Amino acid sequence: MAEQIFKTPVEYLKGVGSQRAEILKKDLEIFTYADLLQHYPFRYIDRTRFYKIRELNPDLPAIQILGRIVSKEIIGDKHVKRLVARFKDDTGTMELVWFQSIRWIDKIVQPGAVFIVFGKPTLFNGHFSISHPELEAYQPNAVNQGNLTLQPVYSSTEKLKQFNLDSKGIQRAQAALIDQVIRQVEETLPVYLMQRHELISRQKALYNIHFPENVEILREAQKRLKFEELFFIQLKLLRSKVLRTQKFKGSVFNNVGDNFNTFYSEKLPFDLTGAQKRVIKEIRQDTQRGVQMNRLLQGDVGSGKTVVALMIMLLAIDNGFQACIMAPTEILAQQHYFSIKSLLGDDFVSVELLTGSTPKKARRGLHERLESGELNILVGTHALIEDAVQFQNLGLVVIDEQHRFGVEQRARLWRKNIIPPHVLVMTATPIPRTLAMTLYGDLDISVIDELPAGRKPIKTVHLYHSQRLRMFGFMREEIAKGRQVYIVYPLIKESEKLDLLYLEAGIEAISNEFPLPEYRISIVHGKLAAKDKAAEMQRFVKGETQIMVATTVIEVGVNVPNASVMIIENAERFGLSQLHQLRGRVGRGAEQSFCILMSGMKLSPDAKIRLDTMVRTNDGFEIAEIDLQLRGPGNIEGTQQSGVLDLKLADLALDQQLLAEARKTVIQILEDDPELVNDDNRILRQYFETRSGGISWDKIS
Ligand code: ADP
Ligand code: MG
Repeated sequence: MAEQIFKTPVEYLKGVGSQRAEILKKDLEIFTYADLLQHYPFRYIDRTRFYKIRELNPDLPAIQILGRIVSKEIIGDKHVKRLVARFKDDTGTMELVWFQSIRWIDKIVQPGAVFIVFGKPTLFNGHFSISHPELEAYQPNAVNQGNLTLQPVYSSTEKLKQFNLDSKGIQRAQAALIDQVIRQVEETLPVYLMQRHELISRQKALYNIHFPENVEILREAQKRLKFEELFFIQLKLLRSKVLRTQKFKGSVFNNVGDNFNTFYSEKLPFDLTGAQKRVIKEIRQDTQRGVQMNRLLQGDVGSGKTVVALMIMLLAIDNGFQACIMAPTEILAQQHYFSIKSLLGDDFVSVELLTGSTPKKARRGLHERLESGELNILVGTHALIEDAVQFQNLGLVVIDEQHRFGVEQRARLWRKNIIPPHVLVMTATPIPRTLAMTLYGDLDISVIDELPAGRKPIKTVHLYHSQRLRMFGFMREEIAKGRQVYIVYPLIKESEKLDLLYLEAGIEAISNEFPLPEYRISIVHGKLAAKDKAAEMQRFVKGETQIMVATTVIEVGVNVPNASVMIIENAERFGLSQLHQLRGRVGRGAEQSFCILMSGMKLSPDAKIRLDTMVRTNDGFEIAEIDLQLRGPGNIEGTQQSGVLDLKLADLALDQQLLAEARKTVIQILEDDPELVNDDNRILRQYFETRSGGISWDKIS
């Protein structure tokens, strides 16, 4: 809403004033008329019909009933008084109860009077009653009896309620606002789009989202406003991609040279999967167009993303560039470093590791070799984006576990070279399609959806605590075969005493069940000093211990191919994506791997779905999709810091189809008219420029 009037501070609205405006700002971030207008109801109360007393059931929301007061009495002493009225219609009798304003109610509620009462019925001792119903005197000849519409319900706060801005108060403010401004609401979508997608006008939609006359028009209003929301997000994302492509040149990797070829034909110890080959091809095409690449590489744990990244890095080197790979933790960075080193061998391109704990002296030498171009590949953590690090010619940045890096951090990497380096973002947390389209809508997406051949899918079972002996027996069998076992405890908050107790009790039970000297156990949890943690991990990695009891600190990182069993205690307390990540710690070798989910008997419906899902499938994308349905987009890992998800009406879990429709439409529009200069599209450009003014969307990727 670019129109001037909508920028009016909300305090100028009739009935608001400066004091309430202050609280509206503080509590609900409502500053202007536009903000208030977009404070949409979060639900509606059905006042489109009258219920009969016989129809009542305790599951009904607030409803309205037409009837007559039969009798009334005031019960209780001076301190706890209540007024109880008997109320009947032609199907039965019920009670209306008041605990407050009794004197006043006593005057209004007279036997014989006919009322429309409104409220939520509750069942007590076989009788229905409504506490503090709204009352409306029935007037036989009046039109508009009762309130025959859907009543909007707005979120409010305690503070606002004190100042008469409860849901009803906000409703009054909305009514005043709409009365004053609704005719000035301008359209934001071109007519041809509204026709094609059967959308009502913005003006009509904004009116009816607040005061719908019936369910049908409410649906129309919601559809229109949701479409608009999703459409403009996609337009922003995809247009920023167009702009970026025009503005930023990209290095051209058109030479497939010695490094790439030697590695491929002499060093690579296995055949690439079809999916790996396809992704490498996609990236190669991308890096030959002279446009900066921004690509998201999704692939489940163990799908072989690192090799793909490495081969692209070799391609960069073949074309005279340096490459770097950045990981969110020191352990992960180290692991990348060692696996890259072992794949490459010693006689090949030069690789170094840079993390927070790299000693100053080594660091200085490293900087020099980077600046001179002698160093080909740098592996590291955040330390990489420190300003002191200068590359001679950085051509490719690989970012692992992307969502832990903020937009700004990525932007800093771009500035490491005159021509911004290509960016390949890798994530093992599969992101549902809809979410990816929104969160990373301006990135190109590659997916490795195939595991290396010979890898056996992990078998997952769910056991109750009472079946613990089976779990111990199974552990013994696997350990006897020479395998290693993880046992993970939830330590959701390190401070939670109960969690620690569980962990300690668990360690004790395991130590009793698997005694020295036959069995050796590593123990890793957040309370350990980093040094001890690393030492314990190392013992397990080296195979000196067979069992690793740990809290979720092992979630990211460790790669122990010989570990074939993952036991998750109190699995009902973990989120789906976390469970999937943990399970991904096993199944890395050639052996059959197992995941055992231990839980109590009492499971919430959601917990049941989570555990059943884990047992049923290994497919990370399917799991991510279910996670999204269960938790909603705001709670999915990696979305919190994203303003892109600031949706008012649309729901990425529920409105997937509308999102797909919006995105497809935007892609078409930008293909035909990238600058949005056609007469038809000018309205879009106008909206776009006023809305996103000041924000440099092209830096957000
Ligand atoms: P991700 O990073 O996707 O979780 P990695 O790249 O770490 O997976 O690969 C997991 C393991 O599988 C590594 O030991 C790697 O060497 C191996 N690997 C990768 N690609 C293949 C392949 N095509 N065939 C066999 N093993 C592979
Ligand atoms: Mg990896």
